[in-house]
Amino acid sequence: MRVNKVLKKVLGLGADVVITGWDLTGPDDDTSGVRPALEVRLRRRVSRRGRCGRCGTRSPWYDQGDGPRRWRHLDVGYATCQLVADAPRVDCPVHGPTVVAMPWARHDSAFTAALEDLVVHDAVVANKQAAADRYGLSWRAVNHACIRLAEEALDRVDLLDGLVAVAIDEVKYKKGQRYLTVVCDHLTGKVIWAAKGRSKDTVRAFFAALGPVRAAALQFVSADGAEWIRSVVAEDAPDAIVCLDTFHLVSWATDAVDEVRRAEWNVLRRTGSAAAAKQFKGLRWLLLRNWGNLSSRQKGVIRDLEKANRRMFRAWQLKEELRELLTLPLLQAQVALDRWLAWASRSKLTPFVKLARTIRRYRDSIEATIEWKLTNGIAESNNAAIGRIRSAARGFQDPKAFITMIMLERADLAPELPWESAA
Ligand SMILES: [Zn+2]
Repeated sequence: MRVNKVLKKVLGLGADVVITGWDLTGPDDDTSGVRPALEVRLRRRVSRRGRCGRCGTRSPWYDQGDGPRRWRHLDVGYATCQLVADAPRVDCPVHGPTVVAMPWARHDSAFTAALEDLVVHDAVVANKQAAADRYGLSWRAVNHACIRLAEEALDRVDLLDGLVAVAIDEVKYKKGQRYLTVVCDHLTGKVIWAAKGRSKDTVRAFFAALGPVRAAALQFVSADGAEWIRSVVAEDAPDAIVCLDTFHLVSWATDAVDEVRRAEWNVLRRTGSAAAAKQFKGLRWLLLRNWGNLSSRQKGVIRDLEKANRRMFRAWQLKEELRELLTLPLLQAQVALDRWLAWASRSKLTPFVKLARTIRRYRDSIEATIEWKLTNGIAESNNAAIGRIRSAARGFQDPKAFITMIMLERADLAPELPWESAA
């Protein structure tokens, strides 16, 4: 096999590329720590025609451009690798004189597409700093590659097409009340839209991107109780049924349990039973977790509460019962909800009396959720995943960078490994 043929295979170059020469430079002494450098000179097989590098429109020849350009490619074993080729220009009817589309690279990038895919893949599965260290790049270069790929993918696919049921939610990206609004598709679980802010204007921007026809086709919108979401949905998608996300409903109930626990703990502390108070404080996570996820020893601790602290036990029962009834068929759930509301209102637990009032206010939305089985799975898993993305980056200063990572991972836009995507 000739060297050029081997190189072409090893570098993953296609039939539309011709290798015109190559050099391998570096110290003879392999203990010097300096990596060998492979430089491969290429040309496109068809040299006097081409597609616009920006939009791909077939365009006539313009000029030779500014001479040879270099692209960093995937490493080859211990060696780094650069591709070198002339970058002539074509005369695009839309963009004017533009560098021709190169088969191995995206427009205006100093990296080959394969290297960029690999860098962004690593940034998504680990984090940007890990990818930067692995490829010897700056964090900024990795960030830039992520943004470029996310934008390119968003140009290619319309995530807002064919939506029937969406969940609108807010996500914190930074301390001090900085939020994004995130919209997910209930059917696929994908994030389909995200933007900075949490206001009526943010939600309006989503409906503007959707357009009136696709907004009218929306049948369900789930959200928490936030008025800023509900009022815009009522205006812009008046036919959609508004559902109250069960994820939020359950989290209201766990908040109420925690409020009861804190009140009881304070009583114990004031009455001087320090040991009992301390023990009580440790109960926090046990009380908030789902019964089904507890070990038998933990279940025993909860059962003991029935004697030890009846108020706390009642709060816990109310939370668990609410969670259970959300999974019942609608008619049974309606009966169970009536009973639950009566019980909560009489419970003498202020947080649950308040919660009962809130639930009465949103009852239609809650019943719609139960009827259409828009369960909490999606909001919950997206919330967890977005939390992971945030902590992998140790917080985000720039909301755009956060949105990019959310879209790459949760909208399924992240590139495949280069050898998987090669057609
Ligand atoms: Zn163009």
